Amino acid sequence: MEVSFAREIEKLKLGAGETFHGEGILAVTKALLQSGVSYVGGYQGAPVSHLIDVMVQAAPDMAKLGVHVEPCTNEASAAAMLGASIMYPVRGAVTWKSIVGTNVAADALSNLASPGVMGGALIIVGEDYGEGSSVIQERTHAYAMKSTLWLMDPRPNLPSIVTCVERAFELSEASNTPVIMELRIRACHVQGAFEAKDNIAPAISGRRLLAEPAPHQYEQLAHPPVTFGHERKKSSERMTAARAFIREHRLNEVFDGAQGDVGIVVQGGLYNALIRALAELGLADAEGNCDLPIMALNVVYPLVPEEILGFAEGKRAVLVLEEGQPEYIENEIGTILRRAKSPVVLAGKDILPMAGEYTSEVMAKGVGTFLRDHLPGIGNQLGDTAYAEESEALRAEAQRLLAAPVPPRPPSFCTGCPERPFFAALKLTQQEIGPVHYSADIGCHAFATFAPFNFGNSILGYGMSLASNASVASFQQKRPLAVMGDGGFWHNGLLSGVTSRLLNGGDGVLVIMKNGYTSATGTQEVISSPDPALKLAAAEKSATHGETTIEDALKGVGVKWLRTVHTYKVSQMRDTLREAFSTKFSGLKVIVAEGECQLERQRRVKPIRAKALAEGERVVRTRFGVDEDTCTGDHSCIRLSGCPTLTVKTATDPLKTDPVAHVTNGCVGCGLCGEVAHAATLCPSFWRAEVISNPGWWDRTRSRLRRIFTLGAVA
Ligand code: SF4
Ligand code: SF4
Repeated sequence: MEVSFAREIEKLKLGAGETFHGEGILAVTKALLQSGVSYVGGYQGAPVSHLIDVMVQAAPDMAKLGVHVEPCTNEASAAAMLGASIMYPVRGAVTWKSIVGTNVAADALSNLASPGVMGGALIIVGEDYGEGSSVIQERTHAYAMKSTLWLMDPRPNLPSIVTCVERAFELSEASNTPVIMELRIRACHVQGAFEAKDNIAPAISGRRLLAEPAPHQYEQLAHPPVTFGHERKKSSERMTAARAFIREHRLNEVFDGAQGDVGIVVQGGLYNALIRALAELGLADAEGNCDLPIMALNVVYPLVPEEILGFAEGKRAVLVLEEGQPEYIENEIGTILRRAKSPVVLAGKDILPMAGEYTSEVMAKGVGTFLRDHLPGIGNQLGDTAYAEESEALRAEAQRLLAAPVPPRPPSFCTGCPERPFFAALKLTQQEIGPVHYSADIGCHAFATFAPFNFGNSILGYGMSLASNASVASFQQKRPLAVMGDGGFWHNGLLSGVTSRLLNGGDGVLVIMKNGYTSATGTQEVISSPDPALKLAAAEKSATHGETTIEDALKGVGVKWLRTVHTYKVSQMRDTLREAFSTKFSGLKVIVAEGECQLERQRRVKPIRAKALAEGERVVRTRFGVDEDTCTGDHSCIRLSGCPTLTVKTATDPLKTDPVAHVTNGCVGCGLCGEVAHAATLCPSFWRAEVISNPGWWDRTRSRLRRIFTLGAVA
């Protein structure tokens, strides 16, 4: 990864008496070090990638402190790392994106939760829910309840988040139970400050080694018959200890309000949006002072019955604001109130949406309805309808200003992405053999599900594309195609897809996009990433080979039909695809589509070029363009390539009524235009030019000669 986190790493070194300024997820990272964590692991994914990325780059500083950092190959291996805390008094933390990562980690989490832990174990999940989310809309809450893991959802401000991290380890140790901390996108990126403390070097670590391993204790294995005892402990000793700790240390916060007849219980992570909604209704100020009593649940599982009953006491009605479905918290509060024979009326999902993000607009509407029902004196004078009308008017005004609807702009590959040429080749192949069943996967290549490619029949999870068409192959005349990235291949695809297909002797075509990184999550390295020396030596070239190659792994497990083709060789890729779909060879056919991630390549190449330019060295940059006199205006090149810098413009020739193709200045000179034009036998309108900075004498002479001959020819 070529991105530098030098500034963030400096913030991790702050000590007592200094103030940390920055975003939520970096505050979490700092809080781990202040808590004396011994080891940190994780699998990257928005919105928590920053945690593990920064720690990996800070490896030398972490080593000095004695903290072991491990970017794992998937979330299951990250979760399994917490096994160290079962039998040793060491604190550990792991991180990933949820819900998808928690699904992958579920087996290890169950086996961790059953025996429980001695050292504090913390799982930090990026709860990617709501508008802008990139995953399935489900809640981590379900996993916490089914495995009996405590779930924290801190109020999104830095002091609260840091306190919650520190308390999470204590809670884990006090109740021998791992703790999950869910952080929504806004909590991860919220900006703020907190008073730093010194980092704590862990008592057991890479710098302070244990002489002996832990003794064998069958009780600590997640294996029958002791699992029956674990189940009992979960709901008795551990639950009791956790509730006592939460209560004693006031992990949940109660904010008083003058209107004590009603109250609101809210997930901690939604607190800021709630205050914003109440401020719009005139019930709170920007400082958070509020007319309504609020209970902010920084721990959403388990709830503490005494706290809930204490908050509800003397109130006519309580509103629960809980994002997502089903209403776990509301149901649990209902049970607590019913068992205590409380007369308090409970409101929640009956007046708020079951699904979708709880924005301040949504909450304002729900609070308005609640107050009209239970506090009419205030509710009937609320401005919630005016707020909704104002929002609606703003939307209408935006529509009016735009006059016409904005043209759809689906997300797409970066300019010069090496994956785009593969999909151009696949389009050409399908023009010959017709459509094939296409199993898509998670990764940048999923952009091919959008226009102009529109590929894909299913997406079943990360690295699961080949596994997902195992049965499709049994009832299709044509072989199904699966596409996955090298990130997905190492995460899961090699075992779930390739070895399973080989075991069963199944047919099919697998394409592995070998761009050298887990690009979609921020270009983190995989085991086959090019090593730094190779990348430097090949600064101007595509460098995708590491010491461990995907091809070696495939051959090692027994793949017999294997081709590696550079993605920019569009004709060769088309021919290889055609061969894979038509060969008599029965069995798995794998094409490794090679081409380094352009984003990562540009990050590496740009500083090298800038330095060379500053030092007066000769630098050549390739540009492509379209000769508008030759362009026929049929735009096949655009439909086949989808490059964002290949667009249209009005022709300068008044006889041409259709717009002509045009290449903008964003072109990185990847060469796909020319390759596609050649492979698809398009019109010969593309030109290629070399832009030479700091030209030498030969460049100047050549240029002069060209000008002379061109002018001569014109004359
Ligand atoms: S990040 Fe890399 S692989 Fe992903 S779309 Fe951009 S250039 Fe392509
Ligand atoms: S060469 Fe063509 S495909 Fe490549 S970046 Fe330039 S316009 Fe886009």
